[in-house]
Amino acid sequence: MAEEIVFYCKDYWDFSFGRFHPMRPLRVKLAIELMRDMGLLEGVEVKEPNEAPHQELLTYHSADYLDALEKEEEAPQYGLGVEDNPVVPGIFRFASIGTGGTIAAAKAVMKSDAIIFNPGGGMHHAKPNRASGFCYLNDVVIALKMLADAGLKVFYLDIDAHHCDAVQEAFYEDSRVFVCSLHQEDAFPLTGKLEELGDKEGKGYNVNIPLPRYTEDEEVLFIFEELVVPLIERYAPDVLFLQAGADGHKDDPLTSLYLTTGIYDRIGRILRDLNLKRIIITGGGGYDMVNVARIWTILWGRLTRRDFPDRLPERFLRISIMEGYDGPDIWDTPGWSGDKAHIKPVLRERVNFLKREVGL
Ligand SMILES: [Zn+2]
Repeated sequence: MAEEIVFYCKDYWDFSFGRFHPMRPLRVKLAIELMRDMGLLEGVEVKEPNEAPHQELLTYHSADYLDALEKEEEAPQYGLGVEDNPVVPGIFRFASIGTGGTIAAAKAVMKSDAIIFNPGGGMHHAKPNRASGFCYLNDVVIALKMLADAGLKVFYLDIDAHHCDAVQEAFYEDSRVFVCSLHQEDAFPLTGKLEELGDKEGKGYNVNIPLPRYTEDEEVLFIFEELVVPLIERYAPDVLFLQAGADGHKDDPLTSLYLTTGIYDRIGRILRDLNLKRIIITGGGGYDMVNVARIWTILWGRLTRRDFPDRLPERFLRISIMEGYDGPDIWDTPGWSGDKAHIKPVLRERVNFLKREVGL
């Protein structure tokens, strides 16, 4: 039986980006508590992540940038101290722990079959010498490099509402990591165009599916069935790396997609049924804490083949109500129609274009 590990550091929820910043680390605590209360951590090893070793940060980040971040300098040339990326006390440790969890996940899947979730990771915008989009250290690129250098083929699937610009850049000419992203087309960081398909050795190993505003569950299911699943099956990766940003939810305050918990349920089932033995899941965006906790709980439950009740536990419901979600179920209602007739023509065209380009 594959190992099941969740990385969780209790310090996360003491940490704050400031009162008015949308990134609230408390969401990780809420997600872990919900997973536990729903019975999804029974038999799972819950581990405290260590800070990332400096040597491993240097495989992607510049020494100058790391130095500025460690010293908590307001350094706009490094994206530090600007509105998105405030320099707040403990920022280096916070970012480093998130990265340490993803590095440990990579090391674990190098050793054996495992499914691992690091909700503090998934910081897919951080650049070699620049903080960007609430991301300071790029745990994703560092871990993907480690896996590729160890000879493992990795399919990186990013369902965050924002494009994984830094990950795409890192592997644009590299076929050892297949980078596939679904994201809102007109949102930050405005990269991730349909035509960005990789270059040189990496040509055909980078696929972006830009989603129009108000993209719905059925449309994402269509994309998975037509494109994402065939791509994963053809690539036959040793490791699936899922960046599970939860900001595509219809009620997310920063984005304009129209997804419900229904599609995350389907994504979890679809990926589970690929029967891959080594899976790393990280967090990512998601700015409504109740939705983030529900979505990550659903994905973890499906991917680890554990059943869970529909009804939310009382403790979570009390917090949900304060946050504006009155439950009582983990599912959004009314759920989805199953109707594929209304898939936007532009999405059909994009999927057809990509299938042609990658030879599916
Ligand atoms: Zn995002």
